[in-house]
Amino acid sequence: MTIKEYVSCRKQQLKDVVNTLTKVPQLIIINANEDPASKSYINGKLKDAALLNIDAKLIQLEPNVTQEQLIRLIEKYNDDSNCDGIIVQLPLPKHIDESIIKLTISKDKDVDGFHPLGTLNPCTPQGIINYLHHENITLEGKNALVIGRSNIVGKPMAKLLLNENCNVTICHSKTKFTDLKNYVENADIIVIAIGKNGFLDERFNYKSDAIIIDVGINRTLEGLKGDAKENLPVKLQTPVPGGVGLLTRLALYENLIKICLTKEKNNDGI
Ligand code: NAD
Repeated sequence: MTIKEYVSCRKQQLKDVVNTLTKVPQLIIINANEDPASKSYINGKLKDAALLNIDAKLIQLEPNVTQEQLIRLIEKYNDDSNCDGIIVQLPLPKHIDESIIKLTISKDKDVDGFHPLGTLNPCTPQGIINYLHHENITLEGKNALVIGRSNIVGKPMAKLLLNENCNVTICHSKTKFTDLKNYVENADIIVIAIGKNGFLDERFNYKSDAIIIDVGINRTLEGLKGDAKENLPVKLQTPVPGGVGLLTRLALYENLIKICLTKEKNNDGI
């Protein structure tokens, strides 16, 4: 099954779950930047919400909004019982401290899974794990290599793979190229998230049954490209576009629906 087919099938299942809920889930998306890429991500999220019968509202702020104003707006939705989930689209304008904003969103409404005390995982790594499970890929005991160590992809990805009992290695910008080559050569699963078009290429040797999960999104004159060159000699390589981006969008609504189901369960007990 392609990622597109898997995502479309899973969305239908999620829509069925949403239809069993006593209240229409509400997601608040707050955007304070004018980045065209952010706009296109938000449009994707709104499109998914419409399909899943979820009430998603976009609040577009001016880029000169102050940190205090943004905090007050988030607190308003933290206290609003009709609001189930809150997303603050990244990147934020430079004068706003991203780490403070991430902590301001209630851990119980943090759909992006960034709050350190929250129970949900960040969407990109969680979406990838969900997909690997769906494809019945055995993770236990496998050599997993994560290239990139960002807080939203690389680090949480390594943690989730470790939870799956993989032997996890993380490489980053300071890893020596010769070492990276050795790690790639021994890897069963490679997750790459570095933002460098076609970085994984024929300079490396791959296991023929390796799996490459390409998280990179690089805007080039030929369109969107991943961090791995297309058609590498491996068993499975996720495409860009039409790969991890779709899994991330799906995981976002998986997280929102988890929040709604937990709320309904807790209300039942009252
Ligand atoms: P980032 O841009 O914050 O950081 C890049 C990471 O790559 C760093 O950890 C750095 O150490 C590592 N790196 C850079 N050069 C390297 C090299 N030569 N060898 C090994 N490591 C190297 O990371 P990010 O925010 O995770 O974004 C990475 C890419 O993933 C970007 O293209 C981004 O657009 C994309 N992304 C895609 C999705 C999705 O849903 N598909 C989600 C998040 C990020």
